[in-house]
Amino acid sequence: MNPKIWLSSPHMGGREEVFVKEAFDTNWVAPLGPNVNGFEQDLSKYMGGVSHVAALSSGTAGLHLGLILLDVKAGDEVICQSMTFSASANPIAYQGATPVFVDSETDTWNMSPELLEQAIKDRIAKGKKPKAIIPVHLYGMPAKMHEIMEIAARYEIPVLEDAAEGLGSHINGKQCGTYGKIGVLSFNGNKIITTSGGGALVADDAALVEQARFLSTQARDAAPHYQHSKIGYNYRMSNICAGIGRGQMEVLDLRISQRRAVYDKYVQRYNGAKGITFVAEPQGYFSNRWLTTILIHPKQAGYTREDLRLALDKDNIESRPLWKPMHMQPVFAGTPFYGNGVSEMLFENGLCLPSGSNLTDADLDRVFAIMDTMLKK
Ligand SMILES: *Cc1c(COP(=O)(O)O)cnc(C)c1O
Repeated sequence: MNPKIWLSSPHMGGREEVFVKEAFDTNWVAPLGPNVNGFEQDLSKYMGGVSHVAALSSGTAGLHLGLILLDVKAGDEVICQSMTFSASANPIAYQGATPVFVDSETDTWNMSPELLEQAIKDRIAKGKKPKAIIPVHLYGMPAKMHEIMEIAARYEIPVLEDAAEGLGSHINGKQCGTYGKIGVLSFNGNKIITTSGGGALVADDAALVEQARFLSTQARDAAPHYQHSKIGYNYRMSNICAGIGRGQMEVLDLRISQRRAVYDKYVQRYNGAKGITFVAEPQGYFSNRWLTTILIHPKQAGYTREDLRLALDKDNIESRPLWKPMHMQPVFAGTPFYGNGVSEMLFENGLCLPSGSNLTDADLDRVFAIMDTMLKK
């Protein structure tokens, strides 16, 4: 059996262990310490300097705290992109609120601004104004944030931006994660950089971020004894994980260029190939190309994305169907949905290909060899 080729695996830069060792040497083995502060400063600088950052235990925790800070409560409705990973939507349920799913457009595969406005109008007509909007930068491709922010401003609904897959992506230089009132990042093991597990909440409003830190450390009031006037959470990032994060920040731009180079190699080889299409960056958009994704149009290609996935799997190569839309998930059956067929088409025909920044040319040659045999069929 050939060695496993992963979809997206951790890729250390080398200096992570220096920061982790420092944490051990100084006994900062806790969910606070110099690495947590340093990692937050690194991120804030990277996001453009105006943003404040709270380092957390996961992106999911960031989305949960984001909803709490936007005052989402039981019985409220929150608009969420349907074409996403479940962690975008689960925190809505944690709050006892109801997600309202919105379909994608075909340029970026993210939330359709037209359907967003339709959904807002319809929910208001039904007597309930949505409390928040969660767009996602899926696979690193920025959502149409100018259009989405314009609609959100017009209806005065705050945006909680799920930038878990979009660290380093931007539109005309403005970083993903800095468009919404609150942005959320993830450093899970499969993301473009990792802290083994972790996340962050980003906002221009320093008080909001301070409130996120407070809630993430059990909402302890200022008192010598433990006193609480609010329900708190244990969502802070550990100083060990933050040490990994500081090392990873030193190579973030390199990782982005490596991921983009992987994407370019697929495009060079398969752009225009029978039945295969890629998703290009709209003018001014910059994707970190966290994952390279393709659509296989079975009528033209003569095979399905599942045929290709199974052929890759046979050679011990991991690939994965595009994320199954939330409105199709059994757990969200019966949830309101504003659709146009796009996310269902993407799920039916889309495949994520091995995209790691640590893929070797030999790895890619193995992937290409399988894709070539499918093309020749
Ligand atoms: C990974 C991911 C999350 C959750 O991040 P974790 O750090 O794994 O909790 C949220 N949304 C999207 C779109 C993701 O890909």
